Amino acid sequence: MSDLNKMGLAEARDALRAGDVTSVELTEACLKAIDEADALNAFVHKTPEIAMERAKAADERIKGGDAPSMCGLPIGIKDLFCTEGVPSQAASGILEGFKPEYESTVSQQLADAGAVMLGKLNMDEFAMGSSNETSVYGNAVSPWRRGNDDAQLTPGGSSGGSAAAVAADLCLAATGTDTGGSIRQPAAFTGITGIKPTYGRCSRWGIVAFASSLDQAGPMTKNVRDAAIMLETMCGHDAKDSTSADLAVPNFEAMLTGDIKGKKIGIPKEYRMDGMPAEIEKLWADGAAMLKDAGAEIVDISLPHTKYALPAYYVIAPAEASSNLARYDGVRYGHRAQLAQGDGITEMYEKTRAEGFGHEVQRRVMVGTYVLSAGFYDAYYNRARKVRTLIKKDFEDVFAAGVDAILTPATPSAAFGLGEMTEADPVQMYLNDVFTVTVNLAGLPGISVPAGLDTQGLPLGLQLIGRPWEEGDLLNTAYALENAAGFVAKPGKWW
Ligand code: GLN
Repeated sequence: MSDLNKMGLAEARDALRAGDVTSVELTEACLKAIDEADALNAFVHKTPEIAMERAKAADERIKGGDAPSMCGLPIGIKDLFCTEGVPSQAASGILEGFKPEYESTVSQQLADAGAVMLGKLNMDEFAMGSSNETSVYGNAVSPWRRGNDDAQLTPGGSSGGSAAAVAADLCLAATGTDTGGSIRQPAAFTGITGIKPTYGRCSRWGIVAFASSLDQAGPMTKNVRDAAIMLETMCGHDAKDSTSADLAVPNFEAMLTGDIKGKKIGIPKEYRMDGMPAEIEKLWADGAAMLKDAGAEIVDISLPHTKYALPAYYVIAPAEASSNLARYDGVRYGHRAQLAQGDGITEMYEKTRAEGFGHEVQRRVMVGTYVLSAGFYDAYYNRARKVRTLIKKDFEDVFAAGVDAILTPATPSAAFGLGEMTEADPVQMYLNDVFTVTVNLAGLPGISVPAGLDTQGLPLGLQLIGRPWEEGDLLNTAYALENAAGFVAKPGKWW
């Protein structure tokens, strides 16, 4: 069998169980694809020895009849996850040389289920960004191009390496994290599926913290079934994370019937933005028509506080980040600046942080410190928290009125060119998150499903937002949308 790296999780799992392929073969195919794809800069630490060792162990398990659903499946891990003995830098210079002595709960659960780690994936520094351009490793590159134009495009961010790697078939799937859209936006930009579960579904333990009340891990996969399989392995209660929910994890894959008859799907009028490209409008309308054809009822809804979501997010996320990032002081981990004669501890902190953090991270630390400062705490931070409560209530009201899921575009545009936003006001970049941040602020599950191509041949995604803890139902609605949209496009190989 050739091109084993092109398989998805379900397909490869079934082939492994049937004895048609071995994990070693799958892993070798991925490692070869990774080595040929350095131009994408998706993998920033390759771990071929670990991969081969785990693949062999997985093959033994499968032979012995013990094959959990992820057993033997080669995947990539975002650099934000701490992985024991393997560099875990959150794509930051300040964590240079950091090799954790422990494994994040999520990556441990994947490893326990037999998944094979191929290496660590590029991302925006500390997951702050929407284009992967804030990474200390340099940006990841999307495998997609606009028609025959060879301009390099962003794979999105912050999980840009994960998105590029899955879209380019360097791995079967990857982990991502999503604080304001970092799973869903890169998934939409690269024609793959990404789900951010309900806040508390996945343990945050061992994942480098950005904004702790918003961060969630989730899978980035080639299709909805694969997302269901991988999410089930990733989530579950963890005593080491007090915000992780003590709830049973359903068999998400078993819930994929494709039957959405009688489901109520809300279309929020506030997501119809001025200046939204006509093709995004059309994609959205087409998506609603597909769900209707599949038997759902489409209803217009209102989420009146949506317009305050971005400003609230860009107060709350930097506030939490400034507090979380205070630990990088040159004492315990990673980079420490060279000190001059007579420098004291203050100079060590200042020089280390000035050298170790990139500009976007410094901007967030400054904004966060400002909004938390004594004179401005009420005016910014507390007000943003109140707005957050109102945004959450908008969703609660809609769900209480019987809506099962909400359909929106995933992003306001297709992928943009790398470097295109460099000169722009940072707010231009923040606008990318306009459809995704509400979901994090409200703690809800959200999934991005590839649903069409723009006129230049680039993928566009639709987002479905579900009720809290009902990822199974959400995945099933996404499955129905995926079946109807029939998205099969792949980027042409140029790398
Ligand atoms: N793009 C958003 C930001 O820069 C979201 C990032 C994320 O979800 N990690 O904050």
